[in-house]
Amino acid sequence: MENKDKIKIAVTISCLAVVSILLANKFRKQRKRKQNIGSCYLKSEAKPQHNFKRVLANNSYSPFKHLKLDDDSSPDLHPYESEIKALLEKPELEFEFCNGTMDMDMSDTYVWIDNESKLKELAQVLSKEKVFAVDTEQHSLRSFLGFTALIQISTREEDYLVDTIAVHDSMGILCPVFANPNICKVFHGADNDVIWLQRDFHIYVVNLFDTAKACDVLSKPQRSLAYLLETYCGVTTNKLYQREDWRQRPLPIDMIEYARMDAHYLLYIAECLVSELKLQKNGMSCSKDNSASENSANLDDKFYFVFEANRRSNALSLQLFTKEQEASPGQYAASSIISRHLNDHGASNINSQFQDVVRCLCCWRDLMARMHDESLKYVLSDNAIVALAEKVPLTTTDICTTISQGDIETESLNSNSTPRFPSSVVLSHLDDFTYLLQDGLKLNNPDDILQLFLKKHIGPHGSCPLSLYNYGLLSKSSMKVSKRLVSKNGYKFSKQVARKASRELFVQKFSCKSPVYHNCRIYANDGRLLCYCDRRKLEWYLQRDLAKVIEEEPPAIMLLFEPKGRPEDEGNDFYIQSKKNICVGCGEGNHYLRYRIIPSCYRIHFPEHLKSHRSHDIVLVCVDCHEKAHSAAEKYKKKVASEFSIPLFVQKVVDSNEESHDESGTSFMKLADGGVSPLELRTAAMALLRHGPRMPAQRCEELKEVVKKYYGGREISEEDLENALLVGMSPHEKRRLHKKKGLSLNRNSLSCKKDEGKNDLEDVDPNPNGSVFATCSSKLSLLGHGPHGKQVVDFLLKEHGEDGVREFCQRWRQVFVEAIHPRFLPGGWDVTHSGRREFGDYSVYNPANKASSSSYPAAVEG
Ligand code: AMP
Ligand code: ZN
Ligand code: MN
Repeated sequence: MENKDKIKIAVTISCLAVVSILLANKFRKQRKRKQNIGSCYLKSEAKPQHNFKRVLANNSYSPFKHLKLDDDSSPDLHPYESEIKALLEKPELEFEFCNGTMDMDMSDTYVWIDNESKLKELAQVLSKEKVFAVDTEQHSLRSFLGFTALIQISTREEDYLVDTIAVHDSMGILCPVFANPNICKVFHGADNDVIWLQRDFHIYVVNLFDTAKACDVLSKPQRSLAYLLETYCGVTTNKLYQREDWRQRPLPIDMIEYARMDAHYLLYIAECLVSELKLQKNGMSCSKDNSASENSANLDDKFYFVFEANRRSNALSLQLFTKEQEASPGQYAASSIISRHLNDHGASNINSQFQDVVRCLCCWRDLMARMHDESLKYVLSDNAIVALAEKVPLTTTDICTTISQGDIETESLNSNSTPRFPSSVVLSHLDDFTYLLQDGLKLNNPDDILQLFLKKHIGPHGSCPLSLYNYGLLSKSSMKVSKRLVSKNGYKFSKQVARKASRELFVQKFSCKSPVYHNCRIYANDGRLLCYCDRRKLEWYLQRDLAKVIEEEPPAIMLLFEPKGRPEDEGNDFYIQSKKNICVGCGEGNHYLRYRIIPSCYRIHFPEHLKSHRSHDIVLVCVDCHEKAHSAAEKYKKKVASEFSIPLFVQKVVDSNEESHDESGTSFMKLADGGVSPLELRTAAMALLRHGPRMPAQRCEELKEVVKKYYGGREISEEDLENALLVGMSPHEKRRLHKKKGLSLNRNSLSCKKDEGKNDLEDVDPNPNGSVFATCSSKLSLLGHGPHGKQVVDFLLKEHGEDGVREFCQRWRQVFVEAIHPRFLPGGWDVTHSGRREFGDYSVYNPANKASSSSYPAAVEG
């Protein structure tokens, strides 16, 4: 072969190689892109609010929780109502706004507050002032409820700009100065600011002077701040800055200037307005507001208008932030889109499919906006919804063009800005549209849409990150709200559907059909990994503002407090091993339940340090293994009961109003003393209350006899029956009953106790076989095995000390092992697991004595 040919071949080969590398790259990229469809944009886009650790107003459908100063104040009351009302009645009439001193040319210096210590200094400075001026800037496009991006505070000496994104979680530091009735806060047009401050920081303004209200009282030709700035200070502002993106950091200099100006001159303007108010003659130009006259009748004329401006200002600060509540998500928007369309096109041109699509999309938009913390407008414009409902496009390309065209229409109405592409929410969830516009229309029940997309996006296998803003959507309380609204407004769906949806939500969240070990991680606030856990535990902390999300997938949270105990077994990585989501018995991976190896009737009475707070004695088992383990445990409980001569159930209780033995007035009797088993009593009372009138007379009498036994044989009233329902119940059970009845009595007592996430209540066994039971803490339910458990544990501790309890635990592990012969227990699991300490020599479970105990399989690596 000639050299020339050789070169040709070489060149061809290298060309081919290059081409194939290029092609391969291209394919790889395409494949990557394909994989990205359906992957949420939030996984790669960081928004400033994601750094917030405390979010007071989340995007759930449940109502906003206002600050509560004491436990029994109503949640719907303004926490400072009495202070503000006091100001309304006896307003401050002499102000020292700035005493004429005013830096009319704004100096170059201002203070930028972007960390906690600077914020504390500011609070210190403000606490010494008689008055300061305030303004806030909001961001609302890329947030569902909007958030405060900047607070401008001016004293006579200084302008402060509080970077409320940087110090978001510390803003509580400013609460006291804002609530201090001796410090006057000057705002201009505080209507929104007052509410925004509550929403984001639980900051409540007490003692407000609103210069816009003063303008009203003075009947000024205009009430805008721009007008006042021009009139009194000779400065012009460009209010277009209002619409800038105030999240930007660093803030451009012109925006800083604008922001400072909004607060800087307010004290001076307030002073000018007050002196004008003092000059006004009563009955002249004040716009009439009758409610004022009674209070101000005995006031000096000179102060009438000052009083009135003050009164209107303070009345403003009594407003409370609330989340808008709809019967179903997106309902208002859908109605307004449909009626606007009717106006434009006439009823004949609007078919029912159009309306269905609009409702469907509005519901989806509402949910997606909440989940991704975006405004409705950002997710999908009204016009895009109309365009989609008119065309009902079915391919993703068509869907995208239809949305863009809708958006172009929106934009061209407002300004001449460039056409918008479908939002990132739409783009990363395009498959939702193809589904909604085809099969989704059959789901014309908003609650079904809600459930479907909740599950799809933020359920355990959801496509979108869980955050402080959206986890509340998964919670039961938000479901309860929608249930209540559903039944009240009767919007298209029945109670049954609501119940079904709520159950599905429950199953989705708590059932073990989804992985129990979600491999969610909990980190201590110093960054050390504490344990792996499920989402439920994670949400429990998040819901109580005790943790922040630090990683989305797989989820990880960081505790915001120093945990009481670090893993007791330093160096034992059992608890921080990633565990498999399979049945420890047979390895079944499709379904499983959490199983407590030590029955909780005993465990809850263990001394705190012996309770297994972590996962050693809670394992996953499939339904079949669960049944086996459970029935073995129940059998063993009976054995324990006879071995210790401690019955499983409290047998007799009697009402003892006279010689009350405990708080509830119930005492436990000797067998011979009469009385009745608490379970029997409850069943009888329940039957009488529910079905009494429709029952055969004889049965009715029998049941009454049962109840009478409790009341010492006397005649019983309806009230007695009601009370009988509560006999033997623990406070927790009573609360649950109240809740079930819709009497959410004790909302306040749902305190932030660490153990409340767990439910240690026993199931009520309908076959009591206990006997006498004499002492019992009133916290304990008499309806389950709790009293038995307590007596057993008390006995163990008394007779054998803590080793007795440890040995007892081992017995239960042994029962479990013998019942299901687990083959998939995690490495490190062991019947003799004892925490730190070894067992006493007498223990049959002491490895030295192992031969004497029945054999059990060694722990198998999981
Ligand atoms: P201001 O009371 O002028 O300081 O405005 C406070 C915040 O209200 C701004 O940061 C905006 O988020 C919002 N805002 C006020 N007026 C408008 C407007 N015309 N358009 C959009 N947002 C506005
Ligand atoms: Zn998403
Ligand atoms: Mn402003």
